Amino acid sequence: MTVTTTTDTTGGTLAPLDSRLLSAVYRAPGHTGPDGPVGRWEGIDGDEEWAAEIRRLKTARNAVILAHNYELPEIQDIADHTGDSLALSRIAAETDADVIVFCGVHFMAETAKILSPDKTVLIPDEAAGCSLADSLTAEELAEWKSEYPDALVVSYINTTAAVKGLTDVCCTSSNAVDVVAGLPADREILFGPDQFLGAHVQRQTGRDNIHVWAGECHVHAGISGPELARRAEENPDADLFIHPECGCANSAIYLAGEGIIDPARVHMLSTGEMLTSAREAAAAGRGKVLVATEVGMLHQLRGVAPDVDFAPVNERAACPYMKMITPAALLRCLALGVDEVDVAPDVADKARQAVERMIAVGNPGSGE
Ligand code: SF4
Repeated sequence: MTVTTTTDTTGGTLAPLDSRLLSAVYRAPGHTGPDGPVGRWEGIDGDEEWAAEIRRLKTARNAVILAHNYELPEIQDIADHTGDSLALSRIAAETDADVIVFCGVHFMAETAKILSPDKTVLIPDEAAGCSLADSLTAEELAEWKSEYPDALVVSYINTTAAVKGLTDVCCTSSNAVDVVAGLPADREILFGPDQFLGAHVQRQTGRDNIHVWAGECHVHAGISGPELARRAEENPDADLFIHPECGCANSAIYLAGEGIIDPARVHMLSTGEMLTSAREAAAAGRGKVLVATEVGMLHQLRGVAPDVDFAPVNERAACPYMKMITPAALLRCLALGVDEVDVAPDVADKARQAVERMIAVGNPGSGE
C-alpha cells in the first residue's frame, strides 16, 4: 500500500538504545493489507519479558505510549493511554514526555505531531496507513475545491496532514453533524472522505448543499447491511452499537425506520461513546450487545463492562494496518528511536487551525 502523506518518516533524530531482545526482530513478508503484501515486524511475543523491556526503554527515553482502541490487546495493555485518535492526540499535546510513541496508523501520528510540534513523535511502523485517509489525496481535494471555489471544506479526522491543511474545519464522528450544522446555510460544503459518515450528516442536518466524497474504509465498509440484519435477527434481545463509518450504518437506520429492527436497539456511536454506552448497558443489566466496528474495540468494551456479552457483527472486520503495530514493532521503535513522523511547519500550521476550529465547536468526542 501507499502511505499518502507529505511527511517524512525516517531513521529519525534519536540515538539508538541497546536492547537484548532486538536481535530477534525481523521483517516478515507475509502480512497482507487490502492492496497487497506489506509485511510487518515480528519475532517477539508480547509476554512479561517483553513488557518489562518496553517499560525500561520507555523510561530511558522519557516516552509516553499511546494506543488506539483497534490495536492488538497486548499493545493496548502496555500503553499508558488507550483511546480514540483525537483523545490520544489531545493527551499527546499535554504530556510532559519528550517522546510520543503513537501505536496507531500514520495519519493519527501526524495529528499528534500537528498538536505537539515540539515533541518527537514515533510510530512503530511507518507503513501502517489507512485506506480511508488514502481515499482522498491532497491533489484530489485541491482539484475538487477548484470546482466549488466558494465551498467550505469539512474533513473527517481520518485524513493526512496535507488534506487537513486544505480543510476549513475537521470533524469526528461525534461532532460531524454539529460542525456542519454550525456552518452558514447558504454555503456549499465539500465533505470527505467518508461517504457513510457524509450520508449520516446529510440525513441529520437535512442540508441539500453538501457534496460527499465517495471514500470509504475497507474494514468498515465490509460490515454490510445484510450481515447486520441477519445478526440482529439471530439475537433479538441484543442492542446494536454501530459506528457511523460502517457500511451497515445506512441499513441500520433503514431497518429501524421500517420497523424490522426496534429503533430503541440501534445506537449510532463513535468509539469513545461506545465505552460510555457499554457502562450504561452494564448498569442497566443488558445481556448482549452486537458491535459494528473494528474488532479491536471489543477488548476495551469487555474491559469496562465484563458482564455484558459483546459480539462483533463481523468477526473478520480487523484493520490490517492497526495490526502492523506488533510487540516486535514497538520494541524496535523504542530501541532504535524510529520511525519518526514529521510534518512540514507550514502544512502543520494550516492543519492545526482546521483541528482547533473543530475543537471550538465542542463535543469533539472521538474520531474513530
Ligand atoms: S479501520 Fe479503516 S479507517 Fe480505521 S485505520 Fe483501518 S483502514 Fe483506516
